[in-house]
Amino acid sequence: MRPINEIIVHCTATPAGREVSVDTIRSWHKQRGWRDIGYHWVVHLDGSVEEGRPVGQVGAHVAGHNTGTIGVVYVGGVDKDMRAKDTRTAAQKDGLEKLLRDLMSHYPSVTKISGHNQYAAKACPCFDARQEYAQLLSEVAAPPTVINSDVPVSGKGTVTASTLNLRSEPKMSGRDIGDIPRGTTVDIFGSDGDWLKIKTPAGYEGWVARRYVAVAGSDPIADPSAHFETTAPVYMRRLIDDIPQWSALDAAAAFGNFGHESAGLEILEEISGGGGYGWPQWTGSRRRAYETWCRENGLDPASDEANYRYVVIELRGPEERTIAAVAKANGLEAKTLAFERSFERAGVKHDDRRLDWATRALAAYRAAYPKQEIDMSAAPAEEEKTGGPVEKMIGAGKGAAQGAVGGVTIGGGIVIIGTTMGWLPPEADTAMFGAAVTGVLTGFSSFVMACIGAYRAPANGGS
Ligand SMILES: [Zn+2]
Repeated sequence: MRPINEIIVHCTATPAGREVSVDTIRSWHKQRGWRDIGYHWVVHLDGSVEEGRPVGQVGAHVAGHNTGTIGVVYVGGVDKDMRAKDTRTAAQKDGLEKLLRDLMSHYPSVTKISGHNQYAAKACPCFDARQEYAQLLSEVAAPPTVINSDVPVSGKGTVTASTLNLRSEPKMSGRDIGDIPRGTTVDIFGSDGDWLKIKTPAGYEGWVARRYVAVAGSDPIADPSAHFETTAPVYMRRLIDDIPQWSALDAAAAFGNFGHESAGLEILEEISGGGGYGWPQWTGSRRRAYETWCRENGLDPASDEANYRYVVIELRGPEERTIAAVAKANGLEAKTLAFERSFERAGVKHDDRRLDWATRALAAYRAAYPKQEIDMSAAPAEEEKTGGPVEKMIGAGKGAAQGAVGGVTIGGGIVIIGTTMGWLPPEADTAMFGAAVTGVLTGFSSFVMACIGAYRAPANGGS
């Protein structure tokens, strides 16, 4: 048996009163590409408990915290308008508590009962699990040998939020002493629950939320951007396939906006009550249409998959003009703003933050798919397109230094230009090859650009 030291509680984020079977949750999770349901136990509305993934197997319920934990979920967690709410029935509360007692007696090594919201910027499970089960834990569980062993009390940390509030006390209501920009290295010299006591390079002392400080050697999920950096590239790649007029830059512009709106694809429910929901923070009729579509298609509105698919539906339908508006804009910044003006139409613009997320999206994409990406900084008006008639386009000038070309074929009006460094045999001297290619490209680049321009024109003009 794998060692278990913690139980993490979730909700299914389904409306109050609606029953959901283990099989249904399993199908949602399989749609995400997982091999099985992510939770180990499901507590139904009537308090009955059903097994999900076998407890001997590592679950898939909290990024970075699946090892050593058991994932328990209750059915519910939002009201009929899909707002986060503790919807547990009396029977469900009893069933959940009994399950936790049983699990703790089976696994005496359990020293913590937590809620998903302690590890991610999410409402799940829509109540304070740590507080609610503190008593239960002290009754049943053996006292932990090391208190707060996962919280560093000294050392260095790096700020991961774009601006992090420094507070006078370890709580959200603590007085705001100042803002610390991302990337700042701070000295950590104390902790209290989810808060770290720190000192800034300028000598200011105060408290910051622990999850926005990456601590050397600690769990990377403490960085809220981890989800964005791993998720955005996957969906950007699909977006480029699904919207043929778009390149990686256009997709990064879209995800820059989503990253800003949802704090890195994490906070789907707008906290301050403006009624926004989802990656782009859909409001009003757009939000209702999204929720209806999710219901009709049996998709969890909180899932990345549902968010992605509906973005595509909007782009191909009522928000179609966004495609051309973004494609036409020149460079990442202009594209990011074009996406905002056309698709988001936000009341509060915060263009700089959108661009910040877009830059991160593009960097993450380039790291995830280095072979597809070609440095176009020498020719910003053009972008690469994979999978189209122009199979690969090679950036001239600066791009040539990175690598490479296979050959040039002209036939039937379609230009296919060779390949990237990845296609070369590993023993090839790429620097030498690159130099030779530079010569080839210098000669061909203007011709190639003209061909591609001719190819792209109808695609853009037609939408
Ligand atoms: Zn959860």
